[in-house]
Amino acid sequence: VVTVMGHVDHGKTSLLDAIRETEVAAGEAGGITQHIGASSVSVGGKRVVFVDTPGHEAFTRMRARGAKVTDLVVLVVGADDGVMPQTLEAIDHAKAANVPIIVAVNKIDKPEAQPERVKRQLADRGLMPEEWGGDTVMVEVSARQKTNLPKLLEMILLVAELRELRANPEAPASGTVLESRVDRGRGPVATVLVQNGTLHTGDFFICGAVYGKVRALFDDHGRTLKEAGPSTPVEVLGLQGVPSAGDHFQVADEAKARHIADYRQGKLREATLARSAGARITLDQLHEQLKSGETKELPIVIKADVQGSVEVLSEMLPKLSNDAVKLKIIHASVGAVTETDVLLASASGAIIFAFNVRPDRKAADLAQRENVEIRPHSVIYEVSDEIKRAMT
Ligand code: GDP
Repeated sequence: VVTVMGHVDHGKTSLLDAIRETEVAAGEAGGITQHIGASSVSVGGKRVVFVDTPGHEAFTRMRARGAKVTDLVVLVVGADDGVMPQTLEAIDHAKAANVPIIVAVNKIDKPEAQPERVKRQLADRGLMPEEWGGDTVMVEVSARQKTNLPKLLEMILLVAELRELRANPEAPASGTVLESRVDRGRGPVATVLVQNGTLHTGDFFICGAVYGKVRALFDDHGRTLKEAGPSTPVEVLGLQGVPSAGDHFQVADEAKARHIADYRQGKLREATLARSAGARITLDQLHEQLKSGETKELPIVIKADVQGSVEVLSEMLPKLSNDAVKLKIIHASVGAVTETDVLLASASGAIIFAFNVRPDRKAADLAQRENVEIRPHSVIYEVSDEIKRAMT
């Protein structure tokens, strides 16, 4: 299971797309890739699974929740640009997680590409290329021209083999929730990465504070599956609620699953009550702070299309706070911007960030009346750049 990381614009998304397209072109896919949080590519009868959300933020968010989904990191470095700040961050995040790194030196089709320079820079940072006697595999690729992609996949499989990663297909299934949402018509849907055991339709399970019975399983091409073995991303139908990204998934007998879900939901309710009581106090305090000219707080409401983005933004934005301005997430959830969101923002003087979602008609009208700003976005980095600009 691979996560692609690297500096912005070095080609993470392009590389993921190119690898998937190659698969479709090779006729093995049997359809168009569906976005289910991860997709698998088969290479000579073996499978490599790619996590859809590239970057170390998503990777580390999962880790912070105690979930380890990535076995191997592909670090994309633009040969035209070289090692950049987020390249170094990605290296640190992968190293902290003790996950091996394979380097994809990308954009070698560009005339100004300097792959040797990239290797030198990486060697200086402790990633010594194999060809120079080190142990880091580096493959020169072009996502645009689809150069050397089979070699990259081959190297991924080789490194995986050396790590002797194993799972037991006979065990009851367990894994991690990658994404979740409510689908109109199908109800709560979660993408689960099965990490051990085999998941079958009809299995009872618990994930986070939600339990359910597998009603249907779909793969990353939208095909129905009867069962899913280790390292398989599957869309699961039959949940009683919406779990969170990073939640642990475990097959259990019905009574046990219900019991654990009840217990965890009680805990969650307590925590939510405690938070909302606290929020009112903080709002009063905020007023005082602003009057006395202390630190200014910028309250933010986040709405996004998938739980993963909600969590990435919720974690990233407060970190942009500085001495003068504190960013505070007052609400963050999956779905379109609603009237309730606008009212909340209006009452708190908040800005709404709409990530890959739109306000519905009524909400848009209300926002205009109430002078609430809704900022649409579809690229995580653009959100942070915009806020940084506004703060300076
Ligand atoms: P990300 O931010 O790391 O996901 O980068 P993107 O995949 O969005 O790519 C950034 C830009 O680089 C886009 O304009 C791509 O078309 C371009 N790009 C990506 N891979 C290549 C490549 O192999 N060769 C060239 N010439 N351009 C590339």
